[in-house]
Amino acid sequence: MKQRICTKCTNQISVNDNDTFVACPKCFSYQEVTEDGMKFLSSFKNSNRPKEVCFELGQSIRVNGRTYTITGITQRNVIWAVPQMLRPYVMPQQKSDFLKDFSYSPWMVANIQTKPFDTGRGQAPSWDNVIYEGNGLGYVLSNHQELAQYPKTWQLTYYKPLADLEPAEERKRAIAKTHEEWKNEVLNDLRKAHPKIEESILKIDIKLWGHAMIRPIIGFIHGQARHEAQQSLNNKIHFAHSDLSGVSIFEEAFFYGYEAAGKVISNTHHKGTNYHG
Ligand SMILES: Cc1cc2nc3c(=O)[nH]c(=O)nc-3n(C[C@H](O)[C@H](O)[C@H](O)COP(=O)(O)OP(=O)(O)OC[C@H]3O[C@@H](n4cnc5c(N)ncnc54)[C@H](O)[C@@H]3O)c2cc1C
Repeated sequence: MKQRICTKCTNQISVNDNDTFVACPKCFSYQEVTEDGMKFLSSFKNSNRPKEVCFELGQSIRVNGRTYTITGITQRNVIWAVPQMLRPYVMPQQKSDFLKDFSYSPWMVANIQTKPFDTGRGQAPSWDNVIYEGNGLGYVLSNHQELAQYPKTWQLTYYKPLADLEPAEERKRAIAKTHEEWKNEVLNDLRKAHPKIEESILKIDIKLWGHAMIRPIIGFIHGQARHEAQQSLNNKIHFAHSDLSGVSIFEEAFFYGYEAAGKVISNTHHKGTNYHG
């Protein structure tokens, strides 16, 4: 234990040998312990609320003679807008057995870089392009909003839900396929709309998404699992993802986002009031 002088208020502070950061109990400034003294980092507002102070997880700080280690982060409100299947990885201590009823479809997504090619008669490629009698969803022209009038390359993002078999079987089948096999599958579909597309292709990247989209299995929509997953945790962590509905569409994403935002508003600025009003 050694004594150091606060660079802000000259208060004497006791510092352990292994302390790297300390907070002054008198002026609440936050300081780094250096070899030969202290280095001022930031002030704390009024009481002991940090202002522009960022503590790293695992970092030790000393306040009022006691050493604290940052082991977690607390927030008054968190909106969880990622799939529910991730909950056990981030919050392993929370109940998540209802996840067994959440069924996600795997998808294959191909990103195809091409030279601009002749798309034939009629409408030029749009943002979202559905292939007549196609096997997938079609493709998005990802650089559709690029400002260049004549882009040197096009980026086509082609989507295919793997939904013929049960998801687990589809995942196994998907990872067993070679890049060449996927490429041929994509091209066979694209050729229906663009017979000569192959001549313009520069690169094809294939990405498999094991749990790309929720699918409404029998009993899920009116079941208990969906209901349980929608409940906020301690009125602090609010869930907002389309998988809470069982149907992966924008309306559901908006709905749960709106609901979660409402809960946050009710908990903060308009405590006690109805946010719908
Ligand atoms: C090609 C295509 C066309 C579509 N067309 C339509 C349409 O016409 N109409 C319609 O209603 N819907 C459509 N959809 C579906 C719609 O896009 C989705 O339902 C909607 O985007 C879901 O929103 P969300 O906020 O629930 O999830 P997402 O928008 O998927 O957001 C989830 C977020 O979680 C992040 N995430 C995932 N895993 C992790 C992780 N491990 N760590 C950190 N972050 C993670 C993702 O990066 C993503 O940002 C379409 C989807 C596709 C792919």
